[in-house]
Amino acid sequence: MVRPQRAYDVGVAAMIMVVEDEPNIGALVRTYLQRAGYDVLWVRSGEDALIELRRHPIKLVVLDIGLPGIDGFEVCRRLGGEVPVIMLTARDEEPDRVAGLEVGADDYVSKPFSPRELTARVKAVLRRSGRAVGGDEVTELGPLTLARGAREVYVDGREVELTQREFDLLEYLLRNAGKVVTRDQLLESVWGFLTPGETRTVEVHVAQLRKKLGRPDLIKTVRGLGYKASG
Ligand code: CA
Repeated sequence: MVRPQRAYDVGVAAMIMVVEDEPNIGALVRTYLQRAGYDVLWVRSGEDALIELRRHPIKLVVLDIGLPGIDGFEVCRRLGGEVPVIMLTARDEEPDRVAGLEVGADDYVSKPFSPRELTARVKAVLRRSGRAVGGDEVTELGPLTLARGAREVYVDGREVELTQREFDLLEYLLRNAGKVVTRDQLLESVWGFLTPGETRTVEVHVAQLRKKLGRPDLIKTVRGLGYKASG
């Protein structure tokens, strides 16, 4: 047997959990990801996912929405941004996507998907979550403090829990504070891909981020252009 090429940079392969009740799809996803060099743990229900997550060093969850018992949305909500999540949506349905992003998913892949698309998304999310940026470097903007190394965000001294994606988004906006950043720029830099028409994804995340920060004025919308972070 040919040893699969490692997709993760150092040491052991990252372990990915696949939560999917449909045998054909579950087996397919497992095969794709194993071929890309990941260790895969496949579970069939949301309950099993939550149990197994405590037992294994899972780096990312590929999560189907339609599951017996508690569904993918509820699993994602209970994870609370602890582990990056890529949701599998049954159809190319906007409501599903938006709901997924609102419960804290980092990305989504619509069924049917290609192996290449799925593994590319997995790689991109892992790359972002594993990125150790600038040690303890701290950025402040008005009442906002962002600690890169610890990946912590405070507003007026109160810690705000952000998902991986929301943190990256905020980090990028702060790095460009005072400048206008376009939605396409955000898609490319924070999401790692540029697909025309995907800007709704950016809008949903920005709205969520503003809500969590409790200070919508920190991220301003610049009409027709994009966003600007300013104190
Ligand atoms: Ca299903």
